[in-house]
Amino acid sequence: MKVLVINAGSSSVKYHLYNMPEAEVLARGVVERIGEKNSELSHFFGDKTYTEQTHVKDVAEAMELVLDTLVREDVGVVKSLSEIGGVGHRVVHGGEEFTGSVVVDEAVIASIEKFADLAPLHNPPNLAGIGAVQHRLPDLPQVACFDTAFHSTIPEVAYMYALPYELYEKYHIRRYGFHGISHRYVARRAAAIMDKDKYGINVITCHLGNGCSITAVKQGRSVDTSMGFTPLEGVPMGTRSGDLDPAILFYLGDKGYGVNELNTLFNKKSGLLGISGASNDVRNLVKLAKEGNDRAKLAIDVFCYRIKKYIGAYAAVLGQVDAIVFTGGIGENSVFLRSQICEDLKQIGVELDQAANEATVANEDQISTSDSGIKVFVIPTNEQAAIANDTYKLTKSGRRENRNRTTVMS
Ligand code: AMP
Repeated sequence: MKVLVINAGSSSVKYHLYNMPEAEVLARGVVERIGEKNSELSHFFGDKTYTEQTHVKDVAEAMELVLDTLVREDVGVVKSLSEIGGVGHRVVHGGEEFTGSVVVDEAVIASIEKFADLAPLHNPPNLAGIGAVQHRLPDLPQVACFDTAFHSTIPEVAYMYALPYELYEKYHIRRYGFHGISHRYVARRAAAIMDKDKYGINVITCHLGNGCSITAVKQGRSVDTSMGFTPLEGVPMGTRSGDLDPAILFYLGDKGYGVNELNTLFNKKSGLLGISGASNDVRNLVKLAKEGNDRAKLAIDVFCYRIKKYIGAYAAVLGQVDAIVFTGGIGENSVFLRSQICEDLKQIGVELDQAANEATVANEDQISTSDSGIKVFVIPTNEQAAIANDTYKLTKSGRRENRNRTTVMS
């Protein structure tokens, strides 16, 4: 059975076509710069690449382009779209309603629409992707995989903010957490590598990419995570501040900063970029720091320090930690940062194998010594494979109805 995985954002649509259950990628690609004159499709199939420059107005048009490309005689990989048995979508916000991936029906669509209030930049393009498939292939089952769902097991004590309770009741202000598909995928991989049941280990998963979040996984379930009501909370990121004293907002408000300006300042101009004044990209910062740029070094130091604090906090939350996992662009590639983050963690049982760390770039491996109390792994994330897997499980029978709201959390 073929499964199409869609990750639709406001300016790009990424896709992977899988043959399941083998999880073989038949084609993948991306439509970038949606809404601009110079939109571009990059399509990869076998060992070939096809690119096309064309104006793509919105997500719906991008989806049309993707579906048309998949069946083209010259660059396509299927004869007819009827060969596809299910479409899985990454959906950012599932509120408190979704505890796993679910087959899309009208009620699910209405809920995703409702939660657009909590994720105004993400849920609308996610929905547009679902709508475009529905329009073109109304009988094809679709599955929504939520970034928040893995964190639905976080207990009240960890998701409540110490604000008046009415704000939770009225506005649903609480910790939701994000990157859940990635945290779940790497936690399951860690269990598999350690030859343990997926519900048999405690792991601290560090997703360090453009966005960064750390999750405490107890016996296979998320019990706390660093991102909160929005992806702004937690460790500093490429351009996001992460945790800070909320009084800074009032102070800057008094100084004349407006709400939109503060939003841009904290989301787009802070983090590694804000401190360094030079770049949000760890590759550039490491290079600059080695050349003697103090602010680049400071940005890296703050980043690593704050990650280390979360690891320590989550070690306390979990009681016993079997493994720490690094994933995401930084976690998978930056030997330098992994080494700095794990420095001085011997007290909690972490001992990095420097040679193994240096040898592990963008591949899966253990980077701790064989007698390290806590194993440390680099595990490249694969959110699309996790979505393909959930979609396959929910749609392989060909049924589209969703009466009992069956969810999967593989
Ligand atoms: P992601 O959002 O997971 O694609 O991660 C993107 C980020 O990963 C970039 O902004 C870089 O900071 C970081 N990154 C990617 N490749 C490398 C590398 N080879 N070394 C260090 N950092 C990297």
